[in-house]
Amino acid sequence: MPFDCVSCGACCAYSASWPVFIGAGEAAGIPEELIDFEHGRMLCHGNRCAALTGEIGSRAQCSVYANRPLVCREFQAGSEDCLMVRRSFGLPAA
Ligand code: SF4
Ligand code: SF4
Repeated sequence: MPFDCVSCGACCAYSASWPVFIGAGEAAGIPEELIDFEHGRMLCHGNRCAALTGEIGSRAQCSVYANRPLVCREFQAGSEDCLMVRRSFGLPAA
């Protein structure tokens, strides 16, 4: 793991359109109050996913980690998108 996601969390607060449900049954196990049913994705406050707890760049955690959407599972630490997001939050990206 090139970066420690537990001390980051930036990708969970970058865009409200990112934590979207792309497959059937993706919302299973996620509390209803954390779901944006209208848009078929996680509820976000601004760009920050409502399931994210803690502080970006310090200590962050996904409160629905075991049931998180597929796009969240597939997001790769150290990928170009990861580095771009980290930079946008002023976090080291190298
Ligand atoms: S931006 Fe990268 S390092 Fe930060 S939590 Fe997401 S995948 Fe992990
Ligand atoms: S569901 Fe979890 S992993 Fe996905 S964006 Fe929200 S906090 Fe991040």
